[in-house]
Amino acid sequence: MGRDFSLMPRRVPAQVRVVEVGPRDGLQHEPGKVPVETKVALIEELVAAGLSIIEVGAFVRPDLVPQMADTGEVLKRLRPRAGATYMVLVPNRRGLERAQESGAQAIAVFTAASEAFTQANIGMTVGESLRRFRDLVGEARQSGLFVRGYLSTCWWCPYDGPVDPDSVSRVARELVELGCHQLSLADTVGAATPGAVRKLLERLLAGIPAGQLGVHFHDTRGTALSNALASLELGITTIDASAGGLGQCPFAPGALGNLATEDLLYMLHGMGVETGVDLELVRSATQRLQLALGRALPSRYLQAGPPTAQRR
Ligand code: MG
Repeated sequence: MGRDFSLMPRRVPAQVRVVEVGPRDGLQHEPGKVPVETKVALIEELVAAGLSIIEVGAFVRPDLVPQMADTGEVLKRLRPRAGATYMVLVPNRRGLERAQESGAQAIAVFTAASEAFTQANIGMTVGESLRRFRDLVGEARQSGLFVRGYLSTCWWCPYDGPVDPDSVSRVARELVELGCHQLSLADTVGAATPGAVRKLLERLLAGIPAGQLGVHFHDTRGTALSNALASLELGITTIDASAGGLGQCPFAPGALGNLATEDLLYMLHGMGVETGVDLELVRSATQRLQLALGRALPSRYLQAGPPTAQRR
């Protein structure tokens, strides 16, 4: 029996860009109101720690996502910083206009690989969502905004189960053709395992350069870091993470949210991968956030801290 070399560890990129999604993808799930001051302080501390792309909020309907209702105010209070890109999620033209008015440098649009999820989440077909974004992405690019396309349910759909890599590939190519500078492939419910990650990425990398693909993992079943590693081994250099592991669904006890920024940085730095981010500064930012929120956040590194060695 020959050895299966596809299972062996491979070389990983020397540098990785960590996209911080905590202030949006994380805080939007918070059950209680998070004051603007708390959000602004968190974002500024994360920028000071070296995180260069931060998703700071969303211009979505406040009745549907009340935690994001103050995104305009958050952006107004944030100081522009050289080297820091503030990104906002926008669902439509009004969202784009507000992003342009507010001084954000990047927008994110979103659709999914699964029809059932797209219907449930935004009430339209995948094709309709792509048509809606066609003009939007073009206008955003013309006004100098960086455009990211989120692709949800790349591995698992909570309604339909396993998602066919061919469906993901079709939608991914369309998002690239629309003009998205970068895609973020999301494991929305945190079901993916490394073999499936490798399989999908190999499929996508046949048509889309690695530099245009990012990955977005959730740690619901403890596989987020392993999935990030599998992505690195295929040359992916953009990985989403959430400070403190923010993004726990408050209605699913024990279910963990986004891959925690601290845990990802600890692994990357331990492997000699450069990120330009100071892990201890991220940790002090999330320690302060824990105090503000009045509860512990799930990041393992945040809770354990750096390893120590005691003399016997
Ligand atoms: Mg997420």
